[in-house]
Parts: sequence; C-alpha cells; structure tokens
Amino acid sequence: MGRRELSIAVVGSGFSGIALAVGLKKAGFTDLTIFERGDGPGGVWRDNTYPGAACDAPSHLYSYSFAPKPDWTRRFAEQPEILAYLRHCAERFSLLPHCRFGSEVTEAVFDGAARRWRVRTARGEEREFDLLVAACGQLGNPAVPSLPGLDSFTGTVFHSARWDHDHDLTGEKVVVVGNGASAIQFVPLIAPDVADLTVFQIEPNWISRKPDRVYPRLRQRLNRRLPLVQKASRLGIFLWFELLLNPALTAPAGRRLLSAHIRALCLFALRSVKNPALRRALTPDYEPGCKRILTSSEYYDTLNRPDVRVVTRPITEVAPDGVRTADGVHHPADTIIWATGFRSQDFVAPMRVVGSDGVELNTAWKDGARAYLGMAVAGFPNFFLMYGPNTNVGSGSIVHMLESQAAYIVQAAELLAGGAGSLEVRDDVLDAHDAAVQRRLSTTVWNQGGCDSWYLDPTRRNTNNWPGYMTGYRRRTRRLDPSDYRLLP
Ligand code: NAP
Repeated sequence: MGRRELSIAVVGSGFSGIALAVGLKKAGFTDLTIFERGDGPGGVWRDNTYPGAACDAPSHLYSYSFAPKPDWTRRFAEQPEILAYLRHCAERFSLLPHCRFGSEVTEAVFDGAARRWRVRTARGEEREFDLLVAACGQLGNPAVPSLPGLDSFTGTVFHSARWDHDHDLTGEKVVVVGNGASAIQFVPLIAPDVADLTVFQIEPNWISRKPDRVYPRLRQRLNRRLPLVQKASRLGIFLWFELLLNPALTAPAGRRLLSAHIRALCLFALRSVKNPALRRALTPDYEPGCKRILTSSEYYDTLNRPDVRVVTRPITEVAPDGVRTADGVHHPADTIIWATGFRSQDFVAPMRVVGSDGVELNTAWKDGARAYLGMAVAGFPNFFLMYGPNTNVGSGSIVHMLESQAAYIVQAAELLAGGAGSLEVRDDVLDAHDAAVQRRLSTTVWNQGGCDSWYLDPTRRNTNNWPGYMTGYRRRTRRLDPSDYRLLP
C-alpha cells in the first residue's frame, strides 16, 4: 500500500516537541506544524529564567541521545545553556520553519466523519490535521494558591516560572512562598541583595548537597575527540539512576535498603543549619523520595543568614502590604514570589481537546488523568500526548522517556500514513494498563511515603509518575502493537 501524505500538528516545542519533530522528519514526514505559545522553542527551559535555574539531572544524560553535546560546561547545566542547546537542536534539525511561535492552541476538536482534528489558535487561526500530538508536558502552567486578598496586594508579585527581570529586589522585603526545587535554587541568589527574606514552608524537603562541578576544557575536548568517553559517562549516570536510585523509590526492598542511606546524606547536609529549632523545622517526617529529593549546596547555608526567616505557619490571607499567617501575624512584603510549582495534573489545559463522541478530555479524565503508556486515550483517535499521565520519572532523565514516546508516536504516524484512517486505543487495553500502573504505584514511596506532592491528585491517585524503570518503559514502547488499537481504514 502506498504512503499518504499526513498532516501533523504538534503542540509545544520543548524537549518533547523537538524530540518528536526530529523523529517525524527523519521518518520522512514533512507536513508538520509545531504550535508554540511562547516566542521560541525551549518549553519550561524558556519560561523558567529565575536566578540560579539549573537542571538537577546531569546534563550528559539530560540531553538527547541523538544530539550529544560534548562541551557541557558543568555537570548540572544552568538554564541559559540548556535553552541554548534546545535552540541549537531546533536549528540543527531544521525545525524552525515548522514552528508557529506566539500561537497558542486553544481548542482541538476531532471530526469523526473526516477523521481529522480541527485545531484553533488564540490568534483565530483554524486548520485541520490528520494527527495531533500534545507535547505540553506536566510543568508548563504555574500554580498560585487561591488566597483571600490576592488582588489587594499593592507591591510586586510574580511566579518563579515567570520571573520579573525588570523588577529590582535590592533592599526590599521579600516573601517567597514555597520551598521546592525552584525556591531552593533562587533563594540563595536573591538573599544577599534583599533587605529581608521570608520563606514560607508547608512541608520540608529532603535535600542533599549537589554534586555539581565545572567540566574543564580538557574534558570537553576529550568528549569531542573521543565520543565514547561521553557515551560512557552517560551510561554510568543512567545506570546509577536505574540500578540505585530507582529501586529506592519504587521497590519495597530497595526502599528499605536505600532509604536510610539517602536520609543520612540529607541529614548530613542539614547539619550546616546552625539553629536547632530551624533544623527541626527543616527535617521531614516522611520517607525520602516521597517528594522529589532535592539537591543544593547553598540553600541551608542561606537560611543561617540573620535576614532570612523560615515560617512554617500557613498563609491565610494576602494583605495590601504583605501576608498574614494562621496565627494572625502580619509579614510585611514589598514583593511576593510564588515558588508554588505547577498545575501538574492539568496536562493539556487550558487547551480544550474534544474527542470522537464530543467528550472533552478533562471530562474523560474526571476520575483522574490516564492514558495508555501515558500517550493514548480511548475516545481520542489520532491523538497522542507526550510527558502525559504516569510518565514522569522520580529518578533519571525525562528526556529518555520522551525519546521512547517520540519513537512510538512516529510508528503511529507510519500506520496512519500506510492506510489506517484512524487509530484509537482500545478501552480494555487502556483499563488494563492503568490498573497495572496504579497497582505498581501503590507500593512506591510516592504513594506510601506519607507526604503530599504534585504527583498525587486530591483523591491521592498518582497521575504523574511511571512506576518502573526507564528501560522498562523503553521496552514497552519499542513496538507499537496495532492490536492495542481500533484501526479504521
Ligand atoms: P514544587 O516542587 O511543586 O514546589 C512548590 C512548593 O510550594 C512546595 O514546597 C509546596 O509546599 C509549596 N507551596 C504550595 N502552596 C503553598 C502555600 N500556600 N504556602 C506555602 N507553600 C506552598 O514546585 P517547583 O519548585 O517549581 O518544582 C516543580 C518540579 O519542577 C520539581 O519537582 C522538578 O521536577 C521540576 N523542577 C526541576 C528543576 C531542576 O531540574 N533543577 C528546578 C525546578 C523545578 P508542599 O510541598 O509542602 O505542598
């Protein structure tokens, strides 16, 4: 059977969208449109420009296998270097002509008769595609708590993922709400400039020192001359995550063996906090790994400063000139920085995705987001997600998972181009997959470790994490089995 020309829409040009577009182009698909709400490629690495933004997975692994970068300047690259890498990839693989920047997809509706997706953008554009891929990820939409008085604040306010670089914090009273991966990176950098810094914490995190280091030029040259050196380094990091850290999170025996070790590492780092009461407040009472284990060699030292305070009482109200906590204390602020994470369970939102029976994706997911292999949803033909439900890794590199997904979706595109009119995952296949994933998650530290995290929805269903190994996911996604799908000619 001949191959038909397939029109493909990809929403998002972050790590996922780029990996997929490269795969599709290599497979010969040219009618490809990448919609991107931002002004360039890069996804979260374009949006998160807060001081100190850097990766907490080593860059030799947190990069594409098909585009190794020998000259990473440090083990954990900083945001500008990662963004430059993604821009370079978009250029090197000639993706820019396919990108429509400043084009936010607001709605995608499946037309059952034509078996095509009608895609609308905020600019009023409307186009039809044979295949739609939401490569929007889990951490694109900032979350801000809905507190009374939010609009009454007269100072400056912004979210860490939308840093206001035009605003000078020097000499200000600053309130930082949240103490997660983002906060612990920028707090040490802004603390020396501000007059007074208050960090609001609900639950503390397990934090170990960051084993970061600069890669000397010699090492960069060696990587370039002998690519095997870099490959070996990548493999070493991969195995460390797969064989050591992953079992500590997902396997009950591994958790017993390794949790004490991780706890000891973090408690060692915590010893640098001088005030015993503060040390107690910063000691988690849940199992390490339940929330993401954080790394910083500066955060705890910063909290020793006399002009930095940690407040553990919840904020109940925002006042015109600060915030008020449950005990009635008013904490003055010139600027409030929300370091409160992302709406990780929204997945494609605010985009409206309407499937074959007129059902909206969020309605289909009213009992919790679920997708076959994190990519395919029953009732939504010719539609795939990247970094969708239950594909986040608690240890390792999401880029490895995204490459697995890209290769799988390319196979779906090939099936459609080869004659299938539509491709829709079978309900029973999705149900069985979801049940197996949830069963495996039930014994992981994320579900059992005794904390709240962005992995769990309000019913404590884990909608975000993959319960196994990266290699297991690669194996499951290596070959798209057409019998998992309803194929219509
Ligand atoms: P996060 O880890 O979800 O942290 C949000 C923080 O805000 C949590 O400490 C949370 O407390 C707190 N919070 C929420 N509402 C609050 C309130 N009303 N009052 C006080 N505190 C409140 O978000 P994030 O730091 O932006 O990181 C999200 C994810 O992005 C990370 O887990 C990681 O996967 C990724 N990330 C990676 C890097 C990196 O690679 N270096 C950097 C940044 C982010 P509770 O936890 O107690 O609810």
